[in-house]
Amino acid sequence: MFSEKLLTWFDKHQRSLPWRLSSPNPYYTWLSEIMLQQTTVATVIPYFHAFITKWPTLQDLALASLDDVLVAWQGLGYYSRARNLHKAAPLLVKRFPVTPAELVKFPGIGPYTAAAIASIAFNQKAAAVDGNVIRVLSRYFAIPTTNPITEVTNALTPCLPEGRYGDFTQSLMELGALICRPKAPACSLCPLQQDCKAHALQMVEDFPVKSPKIKLPTRYTRAFILRREDGALLLRKRPSKGLLGGMMEVPTTPWEDSPFESRGERIRHTFTHFHLEVDVCPGSDPSEFQGIWVHPKDLHTYPLPTLMKKILKATLALSEK
Ligand code: SF4
Repeated sequence: MFSEKLLTWFDKHQRSLPWRLSSPNPYYTWLSEIMLQQTTVATVIPYFHAFITKWPTLQDLALASLDDVLVAWQGLGYYSRARNLHKAAPLLVKRFPVTPAELVKFPGIGPYTAAAIASIAFNQKAAAVDGNVIRVLSRYFAIPTTNPITEVTNALTPCLPEGRYGDFTQSLMELGALICRPKAPACSLCPLQQDCKAHALQMVEDFPVKSPKIKLPTRYTRAFILRREDGALLLRKRPSKGLLGGMMEVPTTPWEDSPFESRGERIRHTFTHFHLEVDVCPGSDPSEFQGIWVHPKDLHTYPLPTLMKKILKATLALSEK
């Protein structure tokens, strides 16, 4: 009943999305699923269009350089996704597996993404459980635990409808995005309302049960702005592994746990696991750093993370005052 109601609703109300085709294209499914990790559909759509315009097929993407992929990814955040995309493309070109067990062995594909790709692109029987699905199911069954991945997977597996596995995965995602939203879910429009426990208890926003908030630590660094007479800025490439790996930056000192005295402009940026306070100051000796000189008008051709864009924006605004 659960899946029938959901699919009937989905057949009528699903959005038209650029990666949602009547005959699924595994490249589109994979690309969109990687982009959609941590990001909303509205943000992803222009990036998805840009990628498939630049690299219409998986073969094309497999031949792309990491720098080009990072530049196209700029602004989407969580850049390890772009690096994994670049790593996985040549492997997937050789053989695009169809089961979650095999897909999960590829860079950037976790259990959720593997199940989503297998079901959507290949109509394989798989329960794809992400934050959206956890929200819908933990409300529907009023599951009282925090982070109930196992409970939700167990509850979902018997509901998977024979032959329509891909539609089922997408219908749950769609319901989570359009109706069973985090705040103020539209229960009156929901096809599952009649049997939804949280709705019956009038406790919809109490599910999923939240874990206590963890206070993020703060780390500190100093960033050096070096400018040539013609206005060019010194940038260097970050090591390929680790946070913001392979992206460009103005030189910074190691990111440390203890604060230090400010010498310049303070900028604060928040990553998933910590805040970073950056003391942006003028640098004096370019020979201390290995880097390249980039004119401000050419900055958009380099992969710059949001943090660096913030630093450069503040710096360029100051220098124009
Ligand atoms: S009835 Fe409300 S809380 Fe329950 S699944 Fe539907 S939208 Fe979510």
